[in-house]
Amino acid sequence: MIATGRATARERPSLKPIRLYEGRKIDAHAHIGDFGGWANVACDAGELLAAMRLYNVERSCVFYTDNSLVRKAAALHPREVAGFVWPDPRQEGAVALVHRALTEWGFRGIKLHPLVHAFLPDDEAVHPIMEEARRARVPVLIHSGHAPFSLPWSIAELAERFRDVRVVMLHMGHGHGFYIQAAIAVAKRLENVYLETSGMPMHSKIKEAVERVGEDRVMYGSDIPFHDPGVEMARVCAAGLTEAQLERVFYRNARDALGV
Ligand SMILES: [Zn+2]
Repeated sequence: MIATGRATARERPSLKPIRLYEGRKIDAHAHIGDFGGWANVACDAGELLAAMRLYNVERSCVFYTDNSLVRKAAALHPREVAGFVWPDPRQEGAVALVHRALTEWGFRGIKLHPLVHAFLPDDEAVHPIMEEARRARVPVLIHSGHAPFSLPWSIAELAERFRDVRVVMLHMGHGHGFYIQAAIAVAKRLENVYLETSGMPMHSKIKEAVERVGEDRVMYGSDIPFHDPGVEMARVCAAGLTEAQLERVFYRNARDALGV
């Protein structure tokens, strides 16, 4: 029997030059600050804003481990910078920090990095932070794609426990094919899970995510300064999405799901 139909059709090279999407954008994943050590990258508020102007990015979701830096940038540039608070959940005062950021500083959500701070997403220490997200009705962005702390299946445990909190899986599984597949499967199963595209190498998986998970649950992010925004945009633009889907992935989905 010859296998036919959508399910078995292979993605083929497009054989068309990439045309960057010129419409307005929201960057769901951006940083200001200094990342030394192995990464050896940095970005200040001026550089972030310049990069945003270059590519018609109206607003960026910005986070850094020194939250005061983000607070300052968000206060200076309230239209361009949406601050997200980045706590170490097991550190004393983490919940209070999150509460203050959401209620006093005008921050728009929470970012968690289980690998950097060495905790499993469903750790007990994370639960009160999720309660804060629930109370403030803000999203939680979680780094994904690195064992042992940030695998899609582990993030699913947390997202399943807090079904009424929007969880964005940053990097949608990142560089590992099986993790990317798992990220798509988790988002397909759990309606409160969204996928963000930065650092994930396969353009075809962006289209697959849009088709299998939903065109309202995939969003663009750059992860500047770790990645170049132009490169990250090019991958989305190579995915073979329709103009309407591009508008959603580059703008509307972040606006609606993240409230920025
Ligand atoms: Zn990042």
